[in-house]
This record gives sequence, C-alpha cells and structure tokens, in this order.
Amino acid sequence: MLSHAHAARGKAPRHFADMTDDEAVEAVTGMGLPRFRARQLASHYYGHGDVDVESFTDFPRDLRGRIAETLFPVLIDEVTRQIADEGMTVKTLWRLFDGSRIESVLMRYPRRATLCISSQVGCGMGCPFCATGHLGLTRNMSTGEILEQVRVASCAMRDGEVAGGPGRLSNVVFMGMGEPMGNYRSVLAAVRRICAPAPGGFGISARNITISTVGVVPGIRKLASEGLPVRLAVSLHAASDVLRDELVPMNRRFDTTQVLDAAHDYYEATGRRVSIEYALMRGINDQAEHATLLAKRLNHYGDDWVHVNPIPLNPIEGSRWTASKPEDERRFLDILHHAGIAATLRDTRGSDIDGACGQLAAKMEDSSTL
Ligand code: SF4
Repeated sequence: MLSHAHAARGKAPRHFADMTDDEAVEAVTGMGLPRFRARQLASHYYGHGDVDVESFTDFPRDLRGRIAETLFPVLIDEVTRQIADEGMTVKTLWRLFDGSRIESVLMRYPRRATLCISSQVGCGMGCPFCATGHLGLTRNMSTGEILEQVRVASCAMRDGEVAGGPGRLSNVVFMGMGEPMGNYRSVLAAVRRICAPAPGGFGISARNITISTVGVVPGIRKLASEGLPVRLAVSLHAASDVLRDELVPMNRRFDTTQVLDAAHDYYEATGRRVSIEYALMRGINDQAEHATLLAKRLNHYGDDWVHVNPIPLNPIEGSRWTASKPEDERRFLDILHHAGIAATLRDTRGSDIDGACGQLAAKMEDSSTL
C-alpha cells in the first residue's frame, strides 16, 4: 500500500551518519583532507553527539562551513514535543528534509532509558487497527535519519533533559513508524552503528536493541544470520490464520506457521528469547479461546523461548477497534501463565498523550491538509 505522496519524494541528503568508515575516509580525502579527519568527525558525532561543526575547534575555521554543508545536513527537525508520565516520557514529532513527519518516544524507567524509533515514513503493512497503517508508506528512511533520532535522544539523556537528571540512553527499539524489515539495509546499518563502541558508534549493547516485525519471514531469517544478539519482536496479534489474515494483511503472504517457525529458528540461532507482541482488541482477539490457542501454538516449539507482551490497544478515534476490558486482559494473561508462558502486560507509556504508534503523525497530517 503506497500513499499518494510516495512518488513525489526523493532520498534524504547524504550525511556523515550514512557513511561506512571507508566512505567517510573517501569523503574527507575527497575534500583534500587527511584520512585521520574521518576519525575525528566520528568522535564528534558518535562519541559526543555533536553536529555543530562551527564548534569543532580541532578543524581549521575556514573548513568548518564546507564540512557542515557537505557532511552534516540537517536531517530531522523538531516539530512538537509532548511530555507525559511526569516528564519521564517524551514523544517528539520530527519533520524530515522533504516535509515528511515521523516520531520517536523516549521512555525513562528506574534502571533504563528506552528510545522507540521510526524506520519508515508511514507503513505499507495496512493493519486496519493502526494509525500508521492508515497513512500508507511514503518512503524508507535513510540510515542517517534513523541514527539522528538516537543521537538526539542520547544527548537529551546525557544533558538531563528528561526528568530524573542526567543519565544514559540504554535501549533502542524499532517499534515506531514503519516495518523495519521493509527497510532492511538502512536499519541494519543503523543497528551496527548504534551498537559499535565509540568513536565508531553510540556504544549501546546489541542485546539492548529490539527489532520489531509484523512477520516478514525473509527479514527474520536474514537477521538471524547477521551474528548480532539483537532481540526480535514479532507482532502476532492473533494465533489463527483466519483472524490474523484480517488483522495483519501480511499474514496472507507469510502465515502464522511460517512466522512462528522463523521466530523459533531466530531463537535457536541467537539464543535470544523472542518477544511476541499482541495488541488486545475488545471482543476480537482477547477471549479465552484466543489465549488458549496462542499458548498451544507457542508451546508446540518447546519451553522458555518466547516472552509474550499483550498490549492494551490504544484505539484510533472513531474506529471499531477498541481496547480490551481489564478483566479480559487479566484472563488472557492468566491463561498464558497457566500454560507456562512468560507474559507481561506491556505498559502503555505516553498513553495520556497520543499513544498508538503513528497517531501523532496521523493527526499532524490531517491538520496539514485542512
Ligand atoms: S501495526 Fe505496525 S506493521 Fe501494522 S500498519 Fe501499524 S506500523 Fe505497520
């Protein structure tokens, strides 16, 4: 599903963060600079989160303008910021170079700070209950656009902009707008930079990075072969093909058996427990029989290989998809627990702002077309 805007939009300008180490060396030597300048730039960008080239005092003053223009174009620009949970959740809407909007959410917890980022503008997967799905896919984001969300959030944590004082960004989840497997190359390049130690990257442990997918099986299999201990999250939302065909149109391409087989193979290849995301929708997928079937399908592969995260759906205004009743949520969890499956009701941080993924961006798109 492509939105109308798709054809009109091009690629983001090339940024230092898009470059491999070799490409960065090529870029600086192409400007007549010695190779070591590439490493200095990496130290500014990844090590210190700096993009204000005028402040790079280790570079000659007359060069800084050219470096800024060539290697550090502005890729994301803040449109609005919403604060919730007493300042512990910060949701930011960003404008990209072509006017597209994406969002990221920074959530601080007692022992970690997690950033949820976007990897595509909109999403082409068309899940009917999802605000982003209604936007359609505009385009893939570049590696630089993905990494800029991480850089800004790590600076915000370091500089104490989030309630609780200065801290460290510890976790990154690809659960914002888009299907990460639909933009595999840029996402993987970003993951490698996020987990590389400074000055080659942001130094966040790969074990603290989660890639979420709606079940794009070739992407899951490719990720399993990368040798990275990142966590995989699969948005299942239903354990039967009849229901999942309706909730997640991608199921008609890769059905529940193919998706669960790939998820279990991922667990075997990486040793990382897979997260199963399950948005609880009232009267649709939240009844006892749904929980029982889910438990049976997961237990078919053995014990202790998954963790289920039922998420109370944050409904889109005016839609027929609504959140489950609390008693149905509790029963759903109880059935999973009795079947020996690890499951935790995921907290809905930021639900008092605009909770469902893409909802804020969807709202802004609406108002911009008025
Ligand atoms: S639920 Fe996820 S995969 Fe489905 S349309 Fe929304 S963003 Fe895309």
